[in-house]
Amino acid sequence: MHNKKIIVGNLKMNMETISMREEYLKDSKEVYENITENIDIVLCPQTLYVERFLQFFENTKIKIGSQDCFWETYGSYTGQISPKTVKSMGAKYVIIGHSERRGLGESCVEVTKKCLTALRVGLIPIVCVGYVYNNNNGDETVAVGESVKSILNEVSKEELKKVVFAYEPVWAIGSGKIPSVDDIYTMVLYIKKLIKNHYSTVDIDTKVLYGGSVSPQNISNIIVDAHVDGVLIGGVSLQAERFAQVIKIVDNILKR
Ligand code: 13P
Repeated sequence: MHNKKIIVGNLKMNMETISMREEYLKDSKEVYENITENIDIVLCPQTLYVERFLQFFENTKIKIGSQDCFWETYGSYTGQISPKTVKSMGAKYVIIGHSERRGLGESCVEVTKKCLTALRVGLIPIVCVGYVYNNNNGDETVAVGESVKSILNEVSKEELKKVVFAYEPVWAIGSGKIPSVDDIYTMVLYIKKLIKNHYSTVDIDTKVLYGGSVSPQNISNIIVDAHVDGVLIGGVSLQAERFAQVIKIVDNILKR
């Protein structure tokens, strides 16, 4: 297996103190070394820590992203984070539309606006889909379809090439349960098909990740049998040792 994979650690609202953050960085230093060219590792700490993570991982292959940013680049928006600021700090990625944000009221329209602005300042948006809104009739496929189409309707084909999607079923997040690999594969194919149909082309190779209870125990099946382009990991990414285990397993698969 040869195509490049992306492994993203979504550290969420953790490492609440500087000493917790520094301890994590110390632990991660050795274990994230020797990362292959075939995997892009992205760590997304709380945005306040982005600069420190960038400094710490300078001259390593670890890339840094933020968790969310606003749809305007500057102005009177108290408390918001400008994507331009995130970019100017040196971050490459931004997670957008995580179900934990959609659950707090973020709509597809807002997620799409954030995605567009992130793209226009040069960030790679990792757009999470899988949150089931009230008008989706409890149907996850409908929900994923609407969230993806909302992006496709506003983003050009060239811009779309830079977008990464992450399929994250809400029920799988932090629960220790994952869908069957067939179900993950079906959803990944569905998202890719929506993209190809929308732009009437096969010439787009958008990356689709899976997220939700990914661990060293299930990563192999997810990568090999669900044919994902990578994974978005919450809980396990908080433990440098276990996160490194996941990276190593994927690395070994890619070397086969
Ligand atoms: P867990 O890996 O803890 O299930 O979290 C998944 C997630 O929400 C990543 O964005």
